[in-house]
Amino acid sequence: VSTFDRPVNTRVFVVANQKGGVGKTTTTVNVAAALAQKGLRVLVVDLDPQGNASTALNIPHSEGTPGVYEAIVEGTDLHELVQPCPDIEGLTVLPASIDLAGAEIELVSLVARESRLDRALQSYLRAREQAGDRIDYVLIDCPPSLGLLTVNAMVAGREVLIPIQCEYYALEGLGQLVRNIDLIRSHLNPKLEITTILLTMFDGRTRLSAGVAQEVRSHFGDIVISTPIPRSVRISEAPSYQQSVITYDSTSSGALSYLEAAREIAVAGTKAR
Ligand code: ADP
Ligand code: MG
Repeated sequence: VSTFDRPVNTRVFVVANQKGGVGKTTTTVNVAAALAQKGLRVLVVDLDPQGNASTALNIPHSEGTPGVYEAIVEGTDLHELVQPCPDIEGLTVLPASIDLAGAEIELVSLVARESRLDRALQSYLRAREQAGDRIDYVLIDCPPSLGLLTVNAMVAGREVLIPIQCEYYALEGLGQLVRNIDLIRSHLNPKLEITTILLTMFDGRTRLSAGVAQEVRSHFGDIVISTPIPRSVRISEAPSYQQSVITYDSTSSGALSYLEAAREIAVAGTKAR
C-alpha cells in the first residue's frame, strides 16, 4: 500500500467559500479521508452548525453532543471532544451540533472572540506533538458565511483551500472572500495564505465547466489543483451512508480524483514553506 509523505510541520487548512453548495464539506471530508487512508494523521474540525462533515464521517452529533461549540465558547480541552472516525484509521473529528448555531452571536461578547478556536487548537496540537503523536493535517470546514466562525477558522489556520464550483457565477463573491482574507492577514493572522484552489463539480462535456476552469486558472495560476473533481453521483450519495466516497466506492472516478487532489496537496506539503 502506498503512503503519502508527512509534511514538515502540521498543516492547518481552512476550507472556505461564503457561497453554500460549492463543495466545501465534500472536499473537507474526502481530502481528509484520502490523506488518512494514505497513512497520515488528520483532524477534521466541523465548524458548520449543520454538522454535515460530522454526518459524512459517521460521527454522532445530535443536539447536546459536546464538540466545537464547547471548545470555542466554553474553552473545553479538545482531548475531551475529538472523536475517531470509525471507518478510517488516523482520521479524527471535532464534531459540530446544532448548538453551534448560537455561537456566532454568543462569541460577540466574549474576550478574544476571533482567536478562540486558534487557542484551543494550538494547545491540542502542541500536546499531541509532545506526546509523540503529531497530527499532520487539520481541515476546518467553514459555514457558508464570512461571520465570526469563519474568522475563527482563518485565525486558527495557515492555508486557505477554496473549492470553486464549475458553474455560472462561480467567481462571483470570490473578490469579497479574497478581501476578507487580506483583512485577516493584516489584522489578525499574518501567516494566512490562499495556497490551494480546487475545482469541483466539473463536467468535462460542457463548455461552461471548461470555461470556468480556464478562468480560474488564469486568475489563480499554479495554486489551482491540476485534477478537477468531476460531478459524480457516487460523491453525492456517499454522505447518506455516513461515508466518504473514498470508503463508499474506492474505485469510482470521484474517489480517484479526490485521492489525486489529496496527493497534490500532500506533495506541496513536503516542501518547506
Ligand atoms: P458546501 O459545504 O459548500 O455547502 P457541499 O459539499 O455540502 O457544499 O455540496 C453541496 C451539495 O453538492 C451536496 O449535496 C453534495 O453532496 C453535492 N456535491 C458536492 N460535490 C459534488 C460532486 N463532485 N458531484 C456531485 N455532487 C456533489
Ligand atoms: Mg458545508
